[in-house]
Amino acid sequence: MVSFLESVNEKPFRAKQIGEWLWKKGASRFEDMTNLSVSLRAALDAHFSFQAADIEEEVKAGDGTVKFVFRLHDGQKVEGVLIPSAGRTTACISSQVGCPLRCAFCATGTMGFIRQLHYAEIFDQYRLINDKSLANFGKPLSNIVYMGMGEPLLNYDNVMRSVEILTAPWGQQLSPSRITLSTAGVAPAIRRLADDGFKAGLAVSLHCADELKRAKLMPVTELHPLKTLQEALSYYHSKTNERITIEYLLLNGLNDSTDDARKLWEYCKPFPVKINIIEYNATGDKFAPSPAYRLEAFVNYLTNKNMVVNIRRSKGKDAQAACGQLVQKRLKTEN
Ligand code: SF4
Repeated sequence: MVSFLESVNEKPFRAKQIGEWLWKKGASRFEDMTNLSVSLRAALDAHFSFQAADIEEEVKAGDGTVKFVFRLHDGQKVEGVLIPSAGRTTACISSQVGCPLRCAFCATGTMGFIRQLHYAEIFDQYRLINDKSLANFGKPLSNIVYMGMGEPLLNYDNVMRSVEILTAPWGQQLSPSRITLSTAGVAPAIRRLADDGFKAGLAVSLHCADELKRAKLMPVTELHPLKTLQEALSYYHSKTNERITIEYLLLNGLNDSTDDARKLWEYCKPFPVKINIIEYNATGDKFAPSPAYRLEAFVNYLTNKNMVVNIRRSKGKDAQAACGQLVQKRLKTEN
């Protein structure tokens, strides 16, 4: 940008002004950049174009949760969700079109990987959902979770750049503590996060602490075995001193026995965790939710071990705790 500005005889500081229009004020047209001269705006318009995402579809659930389908400049689509809850408004955003990890319980995985999202496309989801939050609830987004479509740590550079935009003084100035990145367990990238001084929250979609069973549910386990993941999480904690959120989708007869709970407890011993137990809302006949008595026994086992456990029950709220297509499916069943 600076070299372009020089080529049209503009001062380099204009780049900072343009950056603030893009990332602080969320402009999506050069003509809105009113502290730039008319001639510079025209030059920008002649040389650059916006490839902004648009909302193609909006589906509201009974509890106020809104799912959005975003259309990207090349016609691809991703999803995001606006989740209102007591005292906060949360956006769940996507990091990839499709996902290469093919978790057995997730419809996004069946799409396969289509392409990475550019950091501006990730930011666009935030920008559009924030506008909706202001319009629907009269307040901006308070929290952002990277739990939509895709595996954020397989799009590391774009995701990190988008987090920088959301937290920078020249961007949205959100506190990093309001942002959570969720991974299926890409161990080397978790180590990289620790080395890069990542300040936002980290959630791991563990869903099972038994190697063979997890590999069936989440093939990523074959690439990054549980032991490797555990070592990466220990390393992450040693560098950041942060507690790690463990997401655990409870599936009847698959990962919900007290022996599974014991394995989960054992697995999490090396670092402090908060466990989010997610009740599965059946969307087909492949998996079924755990009955109440099994859920209760599972949770009781963990709480008796003094673990911090939350149960995601509400259909709107639990959208925070799962990957993208589960959200889509839930909302579809509600409308
Ligand atoms: S659950 Fe998440 S990581 Fe797994 S396939 Fe779905 S989007 Fe990808």
